[in-house]
Amino acid sequence: MPQLFIGGQWTAAVDGQVREIRCPADGTLVGTVDEAGPKDTAAAVAAARDAFDRGPWPGTPAAERGRLLLRVADLLERDKATLARAESLDTGKRLVESEYDIDDIAKCFRYFGNLAASGGNDRIVDTGEPDADSRVVHEPVGVCALITPWNYPLLQTSWKVAPALAAGNAFVLKPSELTPHTAIHLMRLLAEAGLPDGVANLVLGAGPTAGAPLCEDPRVDMVSFTGGLTTGRRIMAAAAPTVKKVALELGGKNPNVVFADADFEAAVDYALMAVFLHSGQVCSAGARLLVQEELHDSFVAEVVKRARAIRLGGPFDEHARTGPLISATHRDKVEAYVAAGLAEGAVLRCGGSRPDDPALRNGYYYPPTVLDECTPAMSVVHDESFGPVLTVERFRSEDEAVALANDTVYGLAGAVWSQDVGRAHRVASRLRAGTVWINDFHPYVPQAEWGGMKQSGFGRELGPAGLAEYQEAKHIWRNLAPRPQRWFE
Ligand code: NAD
Repeated sequence: MPQLFIGGQWTAAVDGQVREIRCPADGTLVGTVDEAGPKDTAAAVAAARDAFDRGPWPGTPAAERGRLLLRVADLLERDKATLARAESLDTGKRLVESEYDIDDIAKCFRYFGNLAASGGNDRIVDTGEPDADSRVVHEPVGVCALITPWNYPLLQTSWKVAPALAAGNAFVLKPSELTPHTAIHLMRLLAEAGLPDGVANLVLGAGPTAGAPLCEDPRVDMVSFTGGLTTGRRIMAAAAPTVKKVALELGGKNPNVVFADADFEAAVDYALMAVFLHSGQVCSAGARLLVQEELHDSFVAEVVKRARAIRLGGPFDEHARTGPLISATHRDKVEAYVAAGLAEGAVLRCGGSRPDDPALRNGYYYPPTVLDECTPAMSVVHDESFGPVLTVERFRSEDEAVALANDTVYGLAGAVWSQDVGRAHRVASRLRAGTVWINDFHPYVPQAEWGGMKQSGFGRELGPAGLAEYQEAKHIWRNLAPRPQRWFE
């Protein structure tokens, strides 16, 4: 069956191109999917444009749109096992993590479904004029290009698709070419839930050929992108000539700041989870550990001891705690960052070379790696390696901790560990990041905004602002007693 979804029809790529998808855990063939090119993308944009300009969806009452999203949430839960398995085969991540993801995805649809159904954020404005009233209403932006990465394929997609639909938009989704299968399944569920044809369109394929045309096309009103910084810059530039609305969720190099008065056991445990979850392929990974001087030696020794014991394995290995990297190219990149760090003076405490276990030979595995005695000038400290690599720096004072934590072009997330509530809050408020955790790492809820400061991007996903991203505010003024003003007499 063809896998591009355009105007409500499953379609093959016009040029007949296909792409093989292989599991990063062992190289087995997961599936062969249609590979869109510029002509397919143009057809998908035309279908979305038509659905938005002439179809019923933008004018459908918000409460009804919300109810459709709630149906989608139910269908996601019904198909959880199939979706989780597909996500794990495409990404190599542990099945249990994919299962958590599907639960979170259903919650995201439910949140935006309820938000839409609750009437949204329209308001009446007091004009101060007895004979005039004024309303601010929120309308859909139009045709949205949604471009997503491979690390949390359906989760990142749901953060865009659910609010875009809640607001009444039509969209073209371009998921990562490495992980297309759950996006295909989502299109089936949207159709099953009753979404009109043409509102949701799917093109699969490479960024430059299937994705870039979306950013340039004058019929597209908005691009919402999650991915790397370099691609984000390209997308912003490509969208500039047609002055599209742009939202960018880019990378991070997130600090995990541990003061000497932190709860030792909890802080060690979370420091490992912060960076090694999903082999570090998490935009909010706590990849920079900043430890107060007097705690440094004992803390790092314990982190290293436990990091060495983390078991690597494929998605269905119940004993594995983390999986492979997404591709051979990506593993090469991570290795190069570690080599550069060592050349610049970092001290290797564990990991640092490919595992020799024959059972892992066909996957792109790389072990949890700890680099100590790091400095901000090292590329492994300031660039996003997006792998299981923890760099450790020391600090003495609160001011030094804040300065080191903020010494990055990124500003996505960060954490502070201290049992001194005042200090924890002071540091949290001084970190230049869109999310800060106190004595925790990684939790998020769909009710709270997610997004970056600085070069981690702009715009917000989730929360009320995550819906507003897909809306245009329109002011409607009504004169209740129009009389000639005789302006020109
Ligand atoms: P990527 O930038 O390589 O690709 C992301 C998407 O953009 C893919 O679908 C890709 O095909 C597409 N693309 C590539 N070039 C394009 C172009 N010229 N025009 C249009 N589309 C193009 O990123 P990735 O490697 O898939 O994902 C990893 C990155 O994503 C990391 O940097 C990570 O931090 C970031 N990320 C950020 C968040 C967040 O919430 N801020 C969440 C997840 C991932």
